Amino acid sequence: MAVVTGASRGIGRAIALTLAREGARVVVNYARSRDLGEAVAAEIVAAGGEARAVRADVSRVEDVDRLLASTHETFGRVNTWVNNAGADILTGEARMWPAARQWDEVMAVDLKGTWICSRAAAEAMRRDGGGVIVNLSWDHVDHGMGNATAVIYAAAKGGVVAMSRCLAREFAPAVRVNVVAPGWIRTQWLDGAGAEVQQRVEDATPLARPGTPDDVAAAVAFLASAEAAFITGQTLVVNGGVVMS
Ligand code: NDP
Repeated sequence: MAVVTGASRGIGRAIALTLAREGARVVVNYARSRDLGEAVAAEIVAAGGEARAVRADVSRVEDVDRLLASTHETFGRVNTWVNNAGADILTGEARMWPAARQWDEVMAVDLKGTWICSRAAAEAMRRDGGGVIVNLSWDHVDHGMGNATAVIYAAAKGGVVAMSRCLAREFAPAVRVNVVAPGWIRTQWLDGAGAEVQQRVEDATPLARPGTPDDVAAAVAFLASAEAAFITGQTLVVNGGVVMS
């Protein structure tokens, strides 16, 4: 049984659909987009799977406790937890916020949220016989990118990688903890970024296209699967070769 945070759209939606196709019962978490979250759960059910949409702000301990409790109530034990929820400061009104407010939002959702959820999930998994956590980072954290937004993302997503390695050691051998680090992926922001940006992405990418949410979901599903049973504390970069470690 899997929990995917921030699964109302984009990469999280693709992860939820992929895990469900592979047989998992899925909790589709969302923060604000109730209709979209319910639609993803309905899509899974229509395809013959089991899913439920649950609202929770991952940056709030009490919300995450409720998310975990309602998951246990509905589906029993959790064996896969994907920390995908991320603050969007690139589109909508958040794009215009003062930088310090953008910093607080990204740290609250991407870093603190991943920490709160990872600890809650890992404790429950260790108690209940083990499991897998996959955390979402960013391919440029080790390489840098020269703009103000990148500075904020690098701080949060670099923290996710560092934290995941510690969690992988702390909760081994019961719980495996790994990271997927996407590069340019065709989601809301890139779709709206215009032809010039999209061309630059293609030019910079050895595999000559932006990634898709399904590309990222496949990597998450692999790390969550039994095929990855001897992999923990690692980062799998999904970026068509834009940066190479
Ligand atoms: P989107 O902005 O499309 O979706 C973000 C998701 O996170 C939504 O489902 C949103 O739910 C949810 N969310 C936001 N705040 C919270 C919160 N406080 N609690 C719970 N859920 C929340 O993101 P992407 O699909 O583009 O990215 C997914 C992940 O991948 C993120 O962690 C992102 O940083 C990472 N990533 C993405 C890249 C890309 O190119 N797209 C590149 C590198 C990393 P709601 O709609 O209900 O608010």
